[in-house]
Amino acid sequence: MISIMSSSPPSPAIDLRNFTRDELIAFARERGLPAFRGRQIFSWLYRPGVADFSEMTDLPKDLRSSLAAETFFSRLVPAVKEQSADGTIKYGFLLQDGKMIETVLIPEAGRNTLCLSSQVGCAMECSFCLTGTMGFSRNLTCAEIVNQVCAVADDLRAREAGTLSNLVFMGMGEPLANFTNLIKALAILMDETGLHFSEHRITVSTCGIAPKIIELGQKTKVNLAVSLHAADNETRDRLMPVNARYPLETLLDACRQFSLPRRKKITFEYILLKGINDSDQDAIKLARLLHNIPAKINLLPCNETAALPYAKPDRQRIDAFQQILKKKGFTVLVRSSRGADISAACGQLAVKSSA
Ligand code: SAH
Repeated sequence: MISIMSSSPPSPAIDLRNFTRDELIAFARERGLPAFRGRQIFSWLYRPGVADFSEMTDLPKDLRSSLAAETFFSRLVPAVKEQSADGTIKYGFLLQDGKMIETVLIPEAGRNTLCLSSQVGCAMECSFCLTGTMGFSRNLTCAEIVNQVCAVADDLRAREAGTLSNLVFMGMGEPLANFTNLIKALAILMDETGLHFSEHRITVSTCGIAPKIIELGQKTKVNLAVSLHAADNETRDRLMPVNARYPLETLLDACRQFSLPRRKKITFEYILLKGINDSDQDAIKLARLLHNIPAKINLLPCNETAALPYAKPDRQRIDAFQQILKKKGFTVLVRSSRGADISAACGQLAVKSSA
């Protein structure tokens, strides 16, 4: 018996889901194709259910086969899917290099909010956040960011469970530390021939990389959330190493420069950590700090984990803190924790790399 070791064909190297529409047009042009072909290919990439070039029926056959030889479009398939008692669903996606990321779907009051990861792990080392404890592996590619959305949209469609209404970059990683891929992914997410999300329905959350906040405001119109968590530098220095580089004055200055016209307000996230940043005095300082910024405040009672030395204040303390800010005229929400039983809540996303 002769066994033929067929060498497998070289796998196409170019992932088209890393291209914005403009980049795909440029890609087409480089191959001597008219711009409209680039636009056509781009729009096929995000049509539900299209998995193969052969389905792109308005492209000439020879173009379809040359695309298939040179390129592919990646997708993510959930390796793990866990559902919380409160309906929150955590998806674990295994990436090409064996790394895992998590994406969290939060169904709430008729809306489906998807919490996206931007990096494998995180380099920011915020002391209250479990993702920080896994260290930083790498940035996600543009395709890996967009594919989280495609995969969950597919799952919702398969279950006839509605569509995605909001996207928040509040999963693993610091989105503004992966700026180039974030901006590309946002372009695809908002492109009307891509995934067509309105900028009003997308929020980027940052621990406070000040110069990138300003740049984000110049390049996009998405909503901004800032993880503030302390109202003085001394406390913030202890909680968030990023504060050494961009202390509160620099951070808030960047927020004031963030162009807001249609976005109206910046959301400030503030974790309440018992005995650390939850006093009346802290609330008063916070109000003073934000008094000249169009701000909404989200209070996040700390999600406790055995691995970290922080506790949630009791209900009365949380209410008192909220009342002080409300009296100063702020919109203040206390965010209820979701998905804690499956470790899907804020600051709980952390997976071991299998590579
Ligand atoms: N790096 C970005 C995106 C991550 S968002 C950022 O910092 O904004 C994740 C949110 O969960 C942040 O607001 C973060 O501060 C919050 N978080 C982290 N650990 C938490 C915890 N233990 N309890 C409650 N919220 C937490």
